[in-house]
Amino acid sequence: MSKRVHRIAAIPADGIGKEVIPAGLRVLEALAKRDGGFSLEVETLPWGSDYYREKGEMMPEDGLETLRGFDAIYFGAVGDPELPDSITLWGLRLKICQGFDQYANIRPTRVLPGLTSPLRAVEPGDIDWVIVRENSEGEYAGHGGRAHRGHPEEVATETAIFTRAGVERIMRVAFDIARGRPRKLLTVVTKSNAQRHGMVMWDDIAALVAKDYPDVTWEKELVDAMAARMVRKPASIDTVVATNLHADILSDLAGAVAGSLGVAPTANLDPSRRAPSMFEPIHGSAFDIMGKGVANPVATFWTGAMMLEQLGEGDAAKALMAAVERVCADGVLTADLGGTADTETVTRAVIAAIEGAN
Ligand code: ATP
Ligand code: MG
Repeated sequence: MSKRVHRIAAIPADGIGKEVIPAGLRVLEALAKRDGGFSLEVETLPWGSDYYREKGEMMPEDGLETLRGFDAIYFGAVGDPELPDSITLWGLRLKICQGFDQYANIRPTRVLPGLTSPLRAVEPGDIDWVIVRENSEGEYAGHGGRAHRGHPEEVATETAIFTRAGVERIMRVAFDIARGRPRKLLTVVTKSNAQRHGMVMWDDIAALVAKDYPDVTWEKELVDAMAARMVRKPASIDTVVATNLHADILSDLAGAVAGSLGVAPTANLDPSRRAPSMFEPIHGSAFDIMGKGVANPVATFWTGAMMLEQLGEGDAAKALMAAVERVCADGVLTADLGGTADTETVTRAVIAAIEGAN
């Protein structure tokens, strides 16, 4: 039987992205070897801030066309203290997200074994959430402006744009994810008591889409109440869907209660699969620890598991997470988690756990 081949574009980009992505690729190679049913064809693209210094652009003009030929994008981090976000972030990461209409941003949160949540009352297993963030419109649509700039009568508007099609498609992704999880529970987060147009449309569309998912229990929650509930009753939450802004805030809260930025993964999906999806750790380029070999690679490994899942390699994804959990439980932790291990030590431990598994 011939092997399944997955073509991966790796873009380490900036800062610690250049340390964690190569570590992630080694782990993925070890999984492919152990699995035997698939192989990876990886091309590492040198795009990012150093590329910009040399060429005047973060990625080549035909970069999106190049990426289109891959099955998935494994992305490190973008950002450089010497360059503005308008060049770095917009010139690379957001260009890919928007160019490929990766409208669903998926953010799983769990307290991995061996890690401690800053929440006092959390028991192992209490926090097992997936936050689904609308990634293409809403409050970050960039619609608005400033009038009478600098004058006492200045007015600025920031208009959120919600389209029926945009809300319905993210709602379907969220219901699908909730359906695939044991509790089949979805919380639809809005602020429909105060924002009376777009947010009420969210509630209306949620109710309509819910009819196609009779097996999923769903509820509405206001974003402010949701923030409090994440801290006070974390075990009552499973899958969450929210707007671009609300989910941005809630997922930082989620990352904090799970222990460290260094473990949080994310996927930017085009669920229609017309274009490749992009998988990345949530953390940024972290120039303060760059080049020291101490970056926590766990977020990048978990990100790799999400990528394998989307490529149809569910068994390998599970094997990867089992290896990561074992290494964390054994106390092989980087400094951000209170340990003394460096990137290389954690990477080797995870590879050994993969190779040792049977
Ligand atoms: P960006 O501007 O791209 O967001 P940043 O420099 O703000 O990058 P973040 O990644 O947002 O850095 O993280 C904030 C801090 O958290 C970092 O400065 C770093 O000290 C720590 N941190 C982030 N990711 C990791 C990691 N993988 N391992 C260890 N520490 C991390
Ligand atoms: Mg940051």
